[in-house]
Order: sequence, then structure tokens, then C-alpha cells
Amino acid sequence: MLSDLEVVHEERQGHLWYIKYPVVGTKEFLTVATTRPETMLGDTAVAVHPEDERYRHLMGKKAVLPLMNREIPIIADKLVDREFGTGALKVTPAHDPNDFELGKRHNLAEIDVMTDGAHMNANAGAYAGMDRFAARKKIVEDLKAQGLLEKISDHTNAISLCERSKTAVEPRISTQWFCKMKGLAAPAIKAVEEYAPGKENTIYIIPENRRTEYLNWMYNIRDWTISRQLWWGHRIPAWYCKENRHITVARKTPAQCATCGSSNLEQDPDVLDTWFSSQLWPFSTLGWPEETADFKKYYPTTLMVTGYDILFFWVARMIMMGLHFTGRAPFRTVYLHSLVRTGSGEKMSKSKGTGLDPVALNQQYGTDAMRFCLASMAAPGTDIILSDDKLASSRNFANKIWNAARFLFVNLDKFEQGGAKLEDLAAPGVRAKAPYAAGGKVPLVDSWLFARLTSTIDMVNDALANYRFHEAAQGVYQFFWGDFCDWYIEWVKPELQSADRERATVAWKNLFAAFDAALRLLHPFMPFLTEELWHQLPQAAGAKSIALDRFPEAQARWKNSTATDELALIQEVVTKLRAMRAEKRQDAKKKLPAELSSSNPALRKLLEDNSQVVQRLAVLSSFEVFSEGLKGTGMIVQTAIYDLRIPFEAIIDPLAEIARLKREIERLEKDIQSKKARLDDEDFTRKAPENVVKNMGITLVERQLEQKKLKAQLEQLEGSQAVGH
Ligand SMILES: [Zn+2]
Repeated sequence: MLSDLEVVHEERQGHLWYIKYPVVGTKEFLTVATTRPETMLGDTAVAVHPEDERYRHLMGKKAVLPLMNREIPIIADKLVDREFGTGALKVTPAHDPNDFELGKRHNLAEIDVMTDGAHMNANAGAYAGMDRFAARKKIVEDLKAQGLLEKISDHTNAISLCERSKTAVEPRISTQWFCKMKGLAAPAIKAVEEYAPGKENTIYIIPENRRTEYLNWMYNIRDWTISRQLWWGHRIPAWYCKENRHITVARKTPAQCATCGSSNLEQDPDVLDTWFSSQLWPFSTLGWPEETADFKKYYPTTLMVTGYDILFFWVARMIMMGLHFTGRAPFRTVYLHSLVRTGSGEKMSKSKGTGLDPVALNQQYGTDAMRFCLASMAAPGTDIILSDDKLASSRNFANKIWNAARFLFVNLDKFEQGGAKLEDLAAPGVRAKAPYAAGGKVPLVDSWLFARLTSTIDMVNDALANYRFHEAAQGVYQFFWGDFCDWYIEWVKPELQSADRERATVAWKNLFAAFDAALRLLHPFMPFLTEELWHQLPQAAGAKSIALDRFPEAQARWKNSTATDELALIQEVVTKLRAMRAEKRQDAKKKLPAELSSSNPALRKLLEDNSQVVQRLAVLSSFEVFSEGLKGTGMIVQTAIYDLRIPFEAIIDPLAEIARLKREIERLEKDIQSKKARLDDEDFTRKAPENVVKNMGITLVERQLEQKKLKAQLEQLEGSQAVGH
């Protein structure tokens, strides 16, 4: 016996067997079609539609059930589908849920022809003892031999399979215990529908689409079969007297039958469905029904976190039982997380061999990388497709953090030789006062770093509070890798060993303060790595773990929109210069001259003040800033507020480039002439499809524009050569 929820459906290619049932007292046959011939042994009627003219004369007569020689009535019922098969339906109330209903309406006998083990039982006559599929084969052979098999046709049917064993489910009549659900569902619907923040006895389900599923299921709930024929579980608390089979339900083993007083009792051998027992989990684990201290303190709990695949099996039922037994909703919020799927999108399954072994992946990529990877993909409402690529990228991130820390400590060793101590630069009390000023002012990049840090902290806290773990993980990633490593550390590198001890000390202090905050932000996602590195920084006496330290909180005093805007502009200039180098495939280490012109004096001053940094980060030999337009020729990038130039002679061999441009212009010229000729050819334009002609016209214009651009470049280059020589 299993629950509808544990049944999966699958389309399979099968057959329809057409079997002829002789009609008693006539020479006629009534042909029925079936997908499961073996069930015919339990037939107790044949049904036709009352308005079916083909069979009107047979209604009320009897048919002989082949192989069993049992006379069964031919009945009329409106629910018979005239279109299916022959329009005549064999009725097997003990082996089909629809036939069961039909049998009830017509007072038909229910003949169960199978055993618990899906073999034919004594009711199956000559087939008793055979497996159901062996019996099917024999029955079909016997019908054929007796000339009672009209035909066999191919038929696709949706068959029901057991979710676990994948064997075909056999519908079979049995007596089971049911739990009435409508009354239990009503308060559970109310609790979720009436949710409002802080409102007693209401439950918030996230993500939203699961809330809708929950309500749909609850509104359409059916009574729940709760007895199971298993070896272990909570035993059904029902006893039968041997004399009369009266039922006595009791909390404790009863001494007598409640109806007849017999002491000859036996307990129902079945156990409760596992979910029927585990729905008590929120309160039974706390000592309920006793009013224990744990129950008083921890019930209801705040948050239930589980996979969405057991929303109905478990979560919905815990809510119903919590409300029923304690009068209170068992939790305030239900967060249903994604499932992890394999790279090809399959659900992991041990039996299919599609499972990824988390222990093996941890060994391969690192536990922190695995955890970070899962968190960064945990967008609500979508499953996590776990692949080697994604794990590898998380491992790279872990390595990046480790290498950044190593860089800091190696450089600190050098700095300490000048008399500084880690304690003075990075003790908790020192970190708390960051950012520090040098020469009376917090350096621009340090102000910017702390502004970025506080907005990251803000964003991460907000994302975590709203169960958007992927956003939190991605925010920390961007801060640590992008802001802290790629920009801040690269920017202050020379200052860390600067002869200007004040600037160096300030850089170290600010750096450690930001590093410590970043570790704490990262801790929920990468617990092991951050714990290890955190202990390498000075901590308060007796501090045991980063997990017990405070999670970072946003600091209003760190906000700085001026520093944020100014640094964004410098980053943009550096990024554009790098892109210009990359476009011309310049050696990453080759220093190039570059110029910027802008009519904005504040912009010019900012870039002049930071000229050294721009030169270092963009690998330049010089960086000139002008107020008038760029005078020379070269590779030029223009924006609304400034223009950038790298002179041609710095990035190319002018003579080779002139030759290349000439060749290219000539090639385009040939192409342009040939396209022109074709478009001038009336014969062609008349015969060719309209869109071909149109596209050729467009291509011609594009080629002409391209050529014009190259000609301008050539002219510039030849001009600069003439000036230079
Ligand atoms: Zn009794």
C-alpha cells in the first residue's frame, strides 16, 4: 500500500487486448478491451453506456466470463466511455478505482484475485500461484486457443509506478485506515493566507511560487491513507476482537473489546505512514505532550528550512498537526531551498548513479569552495545545476583569498623589519578606528574602500535577511576579489613599503581593518578558510572563533559618495586604457605613453593628482593631461567628458601599418566595385529575390563606410610620418 504522492506516472507502449465474452442464451459475443487481461478473473460485470444503440438489446442479460465460466450481469452506466475500445467495459471492482465506484453503485461483488506479493490467489482458479505477468501471458494464450481473443492492438498508456522501486502499481482493494483531511486543512490554509509580519499564528512561505502550490494542494486535499504494511513504524493503535472483529481504538493496550467485552484481542499489524509520525516532529521532539521547559521555550520555532520536494509530505502536515494539537502554527517562516542537480540537469539519484558524492567533491575542490558554490547559485525558485566549471571557479576564489592573505603577511614581514608590529597595525582596537588619515586626510582609495565595504555589508545583511543567499555570496565575492584585491591592494602596493612611514602605516592599518571585515562577511560561506586566516590576525584575549565574533554592520560614517564617484572615474580611465592596449594586442608589460584631454578642471585635477597610479595600473610610460582637445593622432577613445589617446607610433610600426591599411583599402575597393556592378545590372536586380538585392545594397554601404574610416586612418598616419621625418 502506498500514498498517491509516492506514485509516479510514465507513458509506456503497451497493448489493448480485445476479449470476447459469450452472451448467455444467444450466439452473440460482447467484446471488451483491456490493458490488463489478468484482472478479468475478478470481473463481476460488463458495463455499457445506457444510450449506446449497439448494446441496447443486451442490457439486463448476462455474459459468461471466459476461463472462469462465471455468469456476470451486463449493466448500463452513464460513466462508461463509449469511445474507448469497443464501448463495453469489463468491471473489476477489486482491481480498479473507477470500477470500485461503479461496483458500489450497482452492488457488485468485489473479487480480489491477487496476493500481497502480486501473485494470483485462490480466486484466480487455474491461475492461482502464478505471478501476475506470467498469468497474463497464459491467459492470453488460453483465450487465443478458445477463439475468444478478437485482436491485440498497440496502445500507449500512462502507467503508475512506485516512486522508489519503479515497479507497476497494482490497484487492489484493501481495508486501510484513513485520516479525514478537510477539517485539518482549513486552519492550515488560514495560517498561510492570513500571513502578515508579526501576526500571531500565521506562516510566511518563501519562495512565493511554493506558497501558491501549498494553497492549491490544501484546497484540493483528499483523505489520507495512513496505514502501511511495513516492518517498522508506529503501530496502528487499533485492536480487533477475534470473535466479532469489533474495533477498539485506544491510547493504551485495552484489556477488553469495547463492544462485546471479549478479552481475546489482537492489534492491527499495520504501522502508520512515516510522514504521519514525522508530522509531529516540531513539538514531539520538545517533549510534547508534556509542557516541558524546551517546549515552552522553543515552540513555535522561528524558521523551517527544507527542500521544496517535501513541502506536501512533511511541511504541510507539520503545519496541520501543529495547529491541531497545540493550537499554534509550528513555525513563523518556511524557507524552501533549491535541489542540487547534476551538470546535465538530472535529479541526483543513487539508483540511477547520477548522484555527486559531496565528500569526493569536497576533497577535490575544498569544502569552502563547495559551500560557496552552492550558496552563490541558490536563487530561490530555481534548482542548482552543479558542474565542475562552477566548482572550479569557486575554488579559484578560495585560492584568491588565500593568496591575498599570503601577500599581506609576506609584505608585512618586510615592513616589520622597519620596526612596526602586527599588534600595532591590526589589533581589534586598532581595526575598530579605521579608516586612518595620512597627513590629516584619509587617502582617496582608502575612503573609497570603506565606502564600498559599508555598502557591501548593507547589501549582504539585507540579502541574508531575505533568504537571497546567492546575492549575498555574489556581493562578498565582488567586494573581496574586485574591490579589495584587484583595486585596493594593487593601488596601495607601493605604499606598503613606502619611505613615508606615516602613509605606509595608515595603509597597513586600513588594509587589515578591511581584511578582517571581509573575512567576517565571508565566514558564513567559507567557514574553514576564514577561521584559519582570522586567527592569523591579532584577536581579543580568549577569542575562540570567528563564528563568535560580530557579523559586520554597515557604518554610516564610512559612506562617501565623493570618493566613490572619483574612484569610479579613475577606474573607468584605467579600464579604457587597458582595453585600448588589449585591442592592439600590446605586451602586458610594455609601457606606453598616453594622454587625456578634458575641459573639466576638476576631472583634470583628479587625474593629475592620481597620475602615478593611473600609469602603474594601466602600465604607462607617461600620462599627460590637457585642457584642449588631443592634438596628435593615434588610437583615440572619446567620451562625453574626456578623450584618451595612445599615439600610433607607440603601438604600431607606422610603415607596416600604412602598408596594411593600403592593402585593406584596395581589397574593399574590389568588393565595392563588384557589388556596384551587380546592383547596376538590371537583369540581376529583376531576377534575384528582393531581400537578396536589399541585403547587397546594405553591405555595399557598410563596405564604403569601412573604407572611408580606413582612408582617414591612413591619412592621419601618413601625416604623422611626414611630421616625424
Ligand atoms: Zn468484540
